[in-house]
Amino acid sequence: MPQKKAIVVGAGIGGLATSIRLRSKGYEVEVFEASEKAGGKLNQMEEKGYRFDMGPSLFTLPKELDHVFETAGKNPRDYYDYEKLELITKYFYEDGTQIDAWAEPLRFAKELEEKTGETAAKALKVLKKSSEIYDITSHVFLERSLHKLSTYLRKDTLISILNLHRIDSMRTMHKANASQFNDPRVVQLFDRYATYNGSNPYEAPATLRIIPHLEFNIGAYFPKKGIYAIPTSLYSLATDLGIKFHFGEKVDEILVEDKAVRGIRIGENKHEAEVVVSNMDVVPTYRHLLSSQKAPEKILTQPRSSSALIFYWGIKDSFPDLDLHNIFFSQNYQEEFRYIWEEKSIYEDPTIYVHISSKCEKGDAPAGKENWFVMINVPANQGQDWESLISAARKNILSKLSRMLGKDIESLIEFEDRLTPELIESRTSSYQGALYGNSSNNKFAAFLRHPNFHRKIKGLYFVGGSVHPGGGIPLCLLSARIVGDLIE
Ligand code: FAD
Repeated sequence: MPQKKAIVVGAGIGGLATSIRLRSKGYEVEVFEASEKAGGKLNQMEEKGYRFDMGPSLFTLPKELDHVFETAGKNPRDYYDYEKLELITKYFYEDGTQIDAWAEPLRFAKELEEKTGETAAKALKVLKKSSEIYDITSHVFLERSLHKLSTYLRKDTLISILNLHRIDSMRTMHKANASQFNDPRVVQLFDRYATYNGSNPYEAPATLRIIPHLEFNIGAYFPKKGIYAIPTSLYSLATDLGIKFHFGEKVDEILVEDKAVRGIRIGENKHEAEVVVSNMDVVPTYRHLLSSQKAPEKILTQPRSSSALIFYWGIKDSFPDLDLHNIFFSQNYQEEFRYIWEEKSIYEDPTIYVHISSKCEKGDAPAGKENWFVMINVPANQGQDWESLISAARKNILSKLSRMLGKDIESLIEFEDRLTPELIESRTSSYQGALYGNSSNNKFAAFLRHPNFHRKIKGLYFVGGSVHPGGGIPLCLLSARIVGDLIE
């Protein structure tokens, strides 16, 4: 019997994982990718002896990645490996406080007690609540399609629905954290988790308190050779399985006839398939590849998640006080988010994230030097005057880091590049340069993401950070798992 054929549009993390899942089901699979390499937002740059992961830096839920290899009957350790972090993040405050977020919950809770006076018992209670929300929501909101009746007929779903009042969706994340802790530094630390999917802690539902569970109760990890090893290893598995990749091939149209997908078109060339999975952001998928189909406007016009401004700095010095992940907090968090979400601009004192992969992977920087990935959260691209915003932000970042680290940072930069919301949008077709698709500020956000399938076009599916269950590496991998489960 001839093999059924599937085409995947885009080789982002969701597209790669889907291609492998479909190949493992016996499909002949071809992947068409607009750029010259696999990975999408997971990209890397090598310059002047430095290597930088250009997109994600934090890796959680590695079992979801392992599962892709296992589904294909392979041992993930033959393709990539990772280590669990003992110290997840170092937090720096302008008043001189420094908090080490240890992976081990009791050690972290004791650190908070010692540095802020908040009792260890309180932090442990908050982490327990985080794990409870995860247990109630994960198999409904993360692991299955929210748009299939079969999901709601399962016993575990029914139990979760009966427990939905416990997921804390009626108040904001900030209100929930401020009700648990008196010390503003601890509230700020826990509020920050809203940014893990590009949301605003002063608007997003407290259900997002699920996120610390991933870091503290399950763990934060570092893939050996850096984050770019993730798409590289998936691509290597995919080619081992015989999946065919076409790089530099931008798909122009998804072909539909008689309410069924027929394949894709690139210029004059048509490629037939019974199944097409779009890993392109769902907004441009409808606007460009499905322009003759009715678009789900309510979903496509939801506010987008925040974007990012990143400076990649080759630093000709080393900083023993810094670790893999470092946060330099703003003094007025609420004002910082007001700027991002209301002014659609950048606050003069932004919270700065400094990721230094050479702390774990020595070869990522020349000896005695460090590769700094310096990121701030910024609004999605709505045509702001980015050049002037970025130039002001660069000055503010340099002056804050120099003040807090006691060294003139600008004079230590020997290589510099940057990534902006406009570049994220133009390089990956991510609408408005959003990092995580739609924002999760609305408590109904989970229901306002596009399903993983098209309700009226047979054979058409959607995967990746702009559709269910949302953005970030683990969720994109879960999205691929759901698509794999939906396709016979
Ligand atoms: P994408 O990465 O969006 O890739 C889509 C692919 O489709 C691209 O390769 C694009 O070229 C291709 N494409 C688009 N249109 C076409 C077309 N017409 N034809 C053919 N190909 C096309 N997540 C985390 O888990 N941890 C983090 O620390 C983290 N930090 C981040 C930091 C930054 C700066 C960024 C940008 C993202 C970060 N994320 C993080 C989010 C994470 O990177 C994304 O959610 C995830 O990579 C999205 O994957 P995706 O499958 O949706 O595909």
